[in-house]
Amino acid sequence: MQREATVLSIAGGRYRLYAAGEILEASLRGRIKLGKSERVLVGDRVAVEMQVEGSVTIEEIRPRRSLLKRRMPGKRRGVRNIAANIDQVVVVGATADPSWDPLMIDRFVAVAEANGLPSLVVVNKADLGNDVNLLAEPYEAAGYQVIIASVPEHRGLTELREKLKGRVSLFTGSTGVGKSSLLNALHPGLKLRTQEVSARSRTGKHTTVAVEMHPFGDAGFVVDTPGLRDVGLWGLGPLEVVQSFPEFARFAGQCRFDNCRHLVEPGCAVVAASQRGEFSETRLLSYRRLLEEAMLAARP
Ligand code: GDP
Ligand code: ZN
Repeated sequence: MQREATVLSIAGGRYRLYAAGEILEASLRGRIKLGKSERVLVGDRVAVEMQVEGSVTIEEIRPRRSLLKRRMPGKRRGVRNIAANIDQVVVVGATADPSWDPLMIDRFVAVAEANGLPSLVVVNKADLGNDVNLLAEPYEAAGYQVIIASVPEHRGLTELREKLKGRVSLFTGSTGVGKSSLLNALHPGLKLRTQEVSARSRTGKHTTVAVEMHPFGDAGFVVDTPGLRDVGLWGLGPLEVVQSFPEFARFAGQCRFDNCRHLVEPGCAVVAASQRGEFSETRLLSYRRLLEEAMLAARP
C-alpha cells in the first residue's frame, strides 16, 4: 500500500516520517538511493510503501516547492541543501532580555530573501519594552509582515497561529528570545526537542546542521533549526546581499552606476533615499555590515 508522508528528521539512514497523524520510521528503497545532490531532505513529501512484513520504504520524492540552501564559502564552494518545502521563515527577536539585535534580524531576513522565502518578523516580549512599534517599523516599511507578541500577555498569539496554519514555517532567532515559549503557548503538546549536530570545517565554521520538523496541530509544520544560528551569512555572495533588501530596489535603478553597491559610490540613489528618511537607517547599516562580510568571504 502506498501512502504520502512528510520527512520530519533524518539520522543514520533512518527517516522519521509523518503521515496523517502517524509517525513512521522508514528506510530508503534501494533503487532510489540517489546521488548526493538528490538526497531526501527534511520537509520532503515522499511516497512510501508499507511492506507486508511491516517495514516502510521511501519510494519517491515528490517535486519540491522550495529548497533552503546554504552555499559553502571559499575553497569548499558548493551548495548544501538544508530543507525542502519551507513556506516561510519566522524570525523572532525580543524587545529586551536579550536586547533587540537588528543585525541578527536582518541577517535572517536576508538569508530568507536569498532563498526566495517570505519572512515574518516577530517582536516578542512586548511586555518588557514600550518601543515595540519603533522596532517593527523598519520591517513593515520594507514590506515584511510583523507580529508584536508577548507570551505572558497572550498578545499576538492568535495572529501568529493564523499565519502558521497550513504552512511549513522555519523558526529562527537568537537563544532566549522566546521561540519555544511562543510555540509551546500555541501548541502545548509540541514539546520542542532540539538536536544539534555540528562539525567544523577547516575555516573553523560550523558546517553540518541538523534540522528537525514538528507537526504543528493538524495543519502545518514548524522547523526548528538549533544549529543554523551559527552559520553566519550562509555563504551569501555580495550580489545576493545586494538583492536581499527589497526596500532598496525601488531606488537602486536610479544609482549612477549599474553595479552600485550603495557604499561610497557617487550618485547613489539608495544613500540619498536613506538621507531623506525613505527607509530605516538601521537597515542600511545592517546591509553594509552584511555586504562587507560577504565581500570578505568571497575573497580568494
Ligand atoms: P528560545 O531560546 O528562543 O526558545 O527562548 P525560550 O522560549 O526558551 O524563552 C527564554 C525565556 O524568555 C524564558 O524564561 C521564557 O519564559 C521567557 N519569555 C518567552 N517569551 C516571553 C515574553 O513574551 N515575555 C517575557 N517577559 N518573557 C518571555
Ligand atoms: Zn547605490
